[in-house]
Amino acid sequence: MNKVLVTGGAGYIGSHACKALRAAGFTPVTFDNLITGWQDAVKFGPFEQGDLLDRAALDAVFAKHEPIAVMHFAALSQVGESMQQPGRYWHNNVTGSMNLFDAAVQAGCNQIVFSSTCATYGDQDNVVLDENSSQNPINAYGASKRAIEDMLRDYEVAHGLRHVIFRYFNVAGADPEGEVGEFHQPETHLVPLMLDAIAGKRDALTVFGSDYDTPDGTCIRDYVHVCDLVDAHVLGLKWLADHNDSRVFNLGTGKGFSVREVIDHSREVTNQTVPIVEGPRRPGDCTKLVSGSHRAEVELGWKPQRSTLKHMISDAWRWHQTGHYDV
Ligand code: UDP
Repeated sequence: MNKVLVTGGAGYIGSHACKALRAAGFTPVTFDNLITGWQDAVKFGPFEQGDLLDRAALDAVFAKHEPIAVMHFAALSQVGESMQQPGRYWHNNVTGSMNLFDAAVQAGCNQIVFSSTCATYGDQDNVVLDENSSQNPINAYGASKRAIEDMLRDYEVAHGLRHVIFRYFNVAGADPEGEVGEFHQPETHLVPLMLDAIAGKRDALTVFGSDYDTPDGTCIRDYVHVCDLVDAHVLGLKWLADHNDSRVFNLGTGKGFSVREVIDHSREVTNQTVPIVEGPRRPGDCTKLVSGSHRAEVELGWKPQRSTLKHMISDAWRWHQTGHYDV
């Protein structure tokens, strides 16, 4: 049996993870409620439509497929929305994860790869973060993910549920073969919104705040190619098979780019102007989130291959031009 249950497998990162899992010889079983995911992104293994808040549906999937491990991507993930509707984030993300972990324990599946976030760190005055940095989230999304990390630690002690936690920085790019890519509805992320604006599919990109304490006044983020990110997840599964332990890994590049720098790179890659307007800060945004990936490189053997801005924006632009999903 080599099945891996992938919650959120119909979403952006989950669908790329399913492709990587299949390439590594696993069978990804997607569990997704299709609220933010897309059924036609499920191409690499079986699909089970269901919701993490439905414990009976989870029990049925574990019984049917007997997965050896779970990759848990399914979550609400918009910082701004989480500030307006925190209850939805706590209920969906935290209660949903608790159902998943309870179902896994009951089924005897004791390996979880969990997608957490750099938003758990909060604002930390221009430091390059590592896994031991303090976690003081400033938005409900980050707080909900930190709570799930805490839950995993308790479940390991009580029930032997071993886990690898990946704290992502900003994910961008798309499968270079164009089988899957990024599409959220509504879209809130910088790179796809910018490409839509360049292609004239949306109004100008609004830059959320130009008065941050950074060299050009805009927020700084650390961008990782989605294919590099999901490669780390497959390595995380191998790590769980080889160790009798749990571990946290940051997935970043150690290099930060401001919103304006991302815009400049996009202009170069697409050879087109980026229409922008300057707007106010978005509630919940940190000034700077950048991390090295020393631990992932040394302990997992993770080598990001495609995580330059140019590579990410080129792959995202190629996917964008296929018109798979048009706004
Ligand atoms: N951003 C922006 N305009 C947009 C969307 C995003 O200026 O329309 C900025 C946002 O404030 C942040 C960065 O781009 O500094 C990345 O935001 P995104 O939503 O892509 O990811 P997040 O950092 O929230 O995970």
